[in-house]
Amino acid sequence: MNLCEVHEKLGTTEQCLQYIEKMRWPDGIVRCPTCGNDKVVKVERKAASKNSRGWFYLCQESTCHQQFSPTAGTLFHDSHLPLIKWFQAIALVLNAKKGISAMQLKRDLGVSYKTAWYLYHRIREIMAEGDIPKLGGVVEIDETYVGGWQKGKGVRYGKKQKQTVMGAVQREGRLKMRHVENAKVKTIKPFIEASVDENVERVMTDQHLVYPLALKEFADRHQVVNHIIGEYVRGDIYTNSIEGVFSLFKRGIIGQYHKISAKHLQRYLDECAYRFNRRKNRDTFEETVRRLCGFPPLTFASLTSDDSLPF
Ligand SMILES: [Zn+2]
Repeated sequence: MNLCEVHEKLGTTEQCLQYIEKMRWPDGIVRCPTCGNDKVVKVERKAASKNSRGWFYLCQESTCHQQFSPTAGTLFHDSHLPLIKWFQAIALVLNAKKGISAMQLKRDLGVSYKTAWYLYHRIREIMAEGDIPKLGGVVEIDETYVGGWQKGKGVRYGKKQKQTVMGAVQREGRLKMRHVENAKVKTIKPFIEASVDENVERVMTDQHLVYPLALKEFADRHQVVNHIIGEYVRGDIYTNSIEGVFSLFKRGIIGQYHKISAKHLQRYLDECAYRFNRRKNRDTFEETVRRLCGFPPLTFASLTSDDSLPF
C-alpha cells in the first residue's frame, strides 16, 4: 500500500480499527484477549471525544467483563498518536527506497520531530529479523566500512574510526547484514556460519586474505574475483550484488540520515535488509502492521508464496 491507498482505505480511525480487527480475528469471530471467550458485545460510547474511539467490546463472561478494542495489547493501544498517522508513517517508511529521515517524516505527517523520531524507531524495531533462513544457492560475501563519525570528535576518516559491516546476499534471494567489530577472521567466521547454509552451491568474495581462512569449510566452493588486478567479473564470478547493496545503503546514509551513530548502525542495516528482502513482494504493509501489533508472524511459506522471493 502506498500513501495514496492508505489515505483512501485507512483514512479514518474506524477504517484503521477494522483493518487491525480483520488481522487479529481473520475468521470474523472477536475473542476476548483476557479470557478467550467469544461472547462479546459491541458497546457504543455515549459522548465520544475527538480522539477517542466511538465504541469498545465488552466480554460477556461473568467472571471477566473485560472492555477491549482491536488494538488491545498492541503497541497502537498505548500510543497517543491517532492510528491514521501510524499507518501513514508505515507507508512512508516502507515506500522510501533509500530510507526517510525523521525530519522528512515530521514534515510529511505534520507531527513534531520527537513524535516522528519515536514513530520511526518503533517501526524500525520490528524490521530486525533473526529468523531469515541461511542463504543457499550462489552467495556473495563482502565487507564494507561505514561512517567515521564519533560523538564530540568531529568527522574523521580512515578505517580505524569507521564501522565494519559484513554482508551476504544470495543471488536473486535474501540479504543479511551485520555490524561487526572488525574484519578479522575470528570476527567474520561466526557471521558466515550464521548466514551461509552448509549446502550452499558456491560462495563468492573478493581477494581479501581473510576469506580463504574464514571460508575454510567451503573451500571447494569458494570463488574469488581479484579487484587488485582490476578483475571485477570472471564469467559468473563477481560480488557486484553485495557491492550494489552496500552502495545503496551508503547513498541512503548520505541522502537521508546524514550521520548514523555506531550505536544505531545495526538498526539501519536491518531496515535496509528488511526493504531489500521484500523488494519483490506486492505488499509489505500488512506484514509490517502485523509485526507492530505483535501478532504471530505469517509463516515463512506464506510470505514467500506468489511473486515473493524464491526459496
Ligand atoms: Zn473475557
